[in-house]
This record gives sequence, C-alpha cells and structure tokens, in this order.
Amino acid sequence: MSVYLDYNASAPIDLRVLDIMVEVYKNNIGNADSRTHNYGESARKVVENSRKQVASLLSVASDEVFFTSGATESNNIAIQGLREYAEKTNKKHIITTAIEHKAILETVKHLQKEGYEVDIVSPDISGRVKTDAILGKVREDTLLVSVMHVNNETGIIQPVKELGESLQEKNVLFHIDATQSCGKLVEEIKDLKYNMLSFSAHKLMGPQGVGVLILRKKAYKLPPVKAILYGGQQEHGIRPGTIPVALTAGCGKACEIAENEYKKNNVYMDVIKEKVLDLLNTFGVEYHINGDQEYCIGSTLNICIEGVSSEALMISTKQYCGLSNGSACTSKSYSPSYVLTAMGIPTSQIDSSIRISWGPDTSIDDVIENLGEVLEIAKQIRN
Ligand code: PMP
Repeated sequence: MSVYLDYNASAPIDLRVLDIMVEVYKNNIGNADSRTHNYGESARKVVENSRKQVASLLSVASDEVFFTSGATESNNIAIQGLREYAEKTNKKHIITTAIEHKAILETVKHLQKEGYEVDIVSPDISGRVKTDAILGKVREDTLLVSVMHVNNETGIIQPVKELGESLQEKNVLFHIDATQSCGKLVEEIKDLKYNMLSFSAHKLMGPQGVGVLILRKKAYKLPPVKAILYGGQQEHGIRPGTIPVALTAGCGKACEIAENEYKKNNVYMDVIKEKVLDLLNTFGVEYHINGDQEYCIGSTLNICIEGVSSEALMISTKQYCGLSNGSACTSKSYSPSYVLTAMGIPTSQIDSSIRISWGPDTSIDDVIENLGEVLEIAKQIRN
C-alpha cells in the first residue's frame, strides 16, 4: 500500500472527528441562527461548544473565535476587511513576506492595485525572515504586518513571537497565518501576541471547508475588520452565511484532540523525521535539506536530491508515495517554488527538491517500505 506524505497540503480526517460530524449531521438539522425553535437552539449549542474547543486550544476567549470557510477566507478577511479602517486612518502600508501563502500574497497584490503600498520581505537561505528586516519597514502609516507562523513548503518557523512582542508597542495590526502550526506548536501559539490569526481545520485532521479567524480584543474592542461579503449577521457580521454546524463541530473536535494529544504527536513526528533521514543516508543518495533544521517543525522535510528531477521522481513513484514539490495551490503546472526561490536557492536545486510531510497517523513501516522504493528509483533516474 502506498503512503500519503503530503499532510501540509491536507491531512486526512481523524475518524473521531468524522464520527462527531456524522452525529451532528443526523441529529442537529437546524440553522444555528434560527431563534424560533429548538432545532436552532440545539444547532447553536453545537457551534458554541466548537467555539469553546477552538478557544481552549489557542487560549483565547470564545467570543474571539470566528468560523470561516478556511484559512484562505480568514486571510482575506484579515486583510481586505481593514479597507474601511485604512481609508479612515489613511494608513495604507502593508508589510508581509515573500514566502506567505498565495491567500496573503494575492490579496495584498490586489490592494496594491488600489493604491496601497506593500513591502514584501524575503527570508535568507535559512528559510526564516529576520525580525529586524520586518520591523525596519514599519512606518507611521503602516496598517498591517502579516507573517506566517510555519511555512507550508519548508516547515520553517518564522519569528512571530519576537514580532508580536515588538509590534505590540506600535500602533500596527499584526496578523499571523498559523495554518501549518495550529494543533502542533500548541504552547508557542498560546504565548503569541497578535491581533488576528488564521487557520484551516483540515491541516489538523479536521474537515476541509471550515477554518477560523481569531480576532483578539484590546480594551474590549475587536480589531477594526469588517466583513468582505454582504449578507446576514452570522459570526457577528464578520462572516455572513449559514454556519455549517457539522463542519464547525469537526473543527472543534480536531482542536480538542490536538490539545490532548499534541505532546505525544510531536514526539512521534520527530521519530518519523529521523527515520526519513536514516533512509536517505542508508540509500546513499546525495541530498541536502532546504531550510535551517534548528527552526523546522517536526512533521516536514524539504529536501533536494542532487541530480534527480522532482517532477520525474514524483511521476515515477506515484504508486508508492504522495509527495509534492510546492504548495498544492500553485501546483497545477510546474513552476519553480516561489518560496525556495525567495530563499535564494538556485533553480537547478529547486528542480530537484521535494516536500515530505506527515502526521500523527502516519505508519513508520509504510514510510520505510515506500520511501525505500522511491529512493531506489531516485538512484536509477539520477543524471
Ligand atoms: N495558509 C497556509 C500557510 C497554507 O498552507 C494554506 C493551505 N495550503 C492556506 C493558508 C490556505 O488554506 P485553505 O486552502 O484551507 O483555505
């Protein structure tokens, strides 16, 4: 049986999450915003319980949790939702990084066309952006700094802790895309200082199609974001549209499981990484790791296998492994990873780079068996 090693694109749903969702689909048929019957009330209770589970994982208050359709939408609200405030305050400068997900980069590019000024900071070869490089760009009219917690392609942890602490003293909003860290760097996230934070449930073994935007209150006030869709008053008007009750239940359950199990999961992630590195060494392929491992999350490895085209490798090993060489959102046709490019890695090395990512339910035996086959083929197709 082949092994799925593309958890950073989407992790499989935890069956305990699925069970809860099926229960909710069967038994909570109402609209959580219906006020006129018990069906509405029972659906509302499910949503509010999910909100509490999310809040607990992140150590925030329940009324700071807003459900969305996923991190893409959360990121869009966090940025586009500031338009009215930007107009009012004449603050139209945004700082972000060159390695953000497209949901950030395309959104700020769109605002750029409307006259916003955007500074995009690149990392160095370590895959990490420098705190000072970001802080050095902050101006009087800076509206927002948006930096991801963990990069989806390299697994490299960004200095959001340091940034949050410094930005707190400045009159600048700070948004963190925590899609790849939520449920993994649990204690670290609880400690972060930020105004807004996004994630998608499916990256922590919840369902696809639901995500969260955390809006931290300051002096009892939410950050000045407005909805970017017009419609009802759901989610306090921040995200109109009928709340998908079962999806929120799945998201909440995934958060609850992550909170209970992240310690043992993180130990296991490290064991798998060691196994993958052992295999690479045993098979004698020449490789190097992209990104500084001192700052890398346990569940991701981005490696360059010298002389082996990643496209050729993935096509010829599909029966063994689900691997990737970039973000799924940009992978319809091959172009060199913009993340690795921004790190200053030469194109020839990017063309030989693959991302391997795994999760708590990945079987070590399956990894050994299938990755071994992949590495054998890598040796054969090496030029
Ligand atoms: N941000 C990051 C860092 C991601 O990895 C992803 C998913 N690849 C997203 C945002 C977008 O998530 P979704 O597609 O679930 O909206």
